[in-house]
Amino acid sequence: MKKLKDTVYLLESGRFVNMYAIVHGKSAVIIDTGTPGKANNILDELSAIRVKPCDIEAVIITHAHPDHAGSSAALLARIYAKLHVHKGDLGVLLGKEPYPKPRYAFEKLSVFVTTHVWKYTPPAEALAVDEGFIVPKFPGLKIVHTPGHTPGSLSVLDTESGTLFCGDALNNRADKLTGPLKYFTGDMDQAWRSIEKISELPFNALCPGHGNWIPDGAQKKVKGLLNGRRQKPD
Ligand SMILES: [Zn+2]
Ligand SMILES: [Zn+2]
Repeated sequence: MKKLKDTVYLLESGRFVNMYAIVHGKSAVIIDTGTPGKANNILDELSAIRVKPCDIEAVIITHAHPDHAGSSAALLARIYAKLHVHKGDLGVLLGKEPYPKPRYAFEKLSVFVTTHVWKYTPPAEALAVDEGFIVPKFPGLKIVHTPGHTPGSLSVLDTESGTLFCGDALNNRADKLTGPLKYFTGDMDQAWRSIEKISELPFNALCPGHGNWIPDGAQKKVKGLLNGRRQKPD
């Protein structure tokens, strides 16, 4: 558990995938659940800052990829809060719709890992949310639909702390801000339109699904990324 801001924590047991907690007093909202097998680690990390399972108000899944939703079923079984996912990813999260057909060899490998190595277990239920949804008891948290990486990819804007949690809509691996990884992204054009949308949101800090967070000036960096791409399209 690493404190990023007064109310924002990074859950470190995700290792290569970031999970976050927003904590107001005793109440907490969790963003993403990591790969399968992390539910107990998440609860252990939270108990270190005296957040109990009954203090969790909501779990928000940025998108239904198994590195972010992998422990959602196990976590749901241990808490009272609901899982929140964008309606565009609900069917895949619940295991009722298949993953979109892989186009790249790399993506085929990830589907293989998901199915045979991680053994993703879908949660029994989740609440479908859409643009503008406000988390109960957390009026400063707003859901923003940022599709492209997956149809239901969402970001969470914390207007109180000026932080954007963007899932895989943006990456900051090795401190290099980029768009989502092409190999795992359903619609790159739509993903870049979502990055345009993100660049207009009011935030200073960016908490991505992979790589280090950007504590300051993150919105400007996103605009810079877009400008760079306009001059040198890929
Ligand atoms: Zn992803
Ligand atoms: Zn990811």
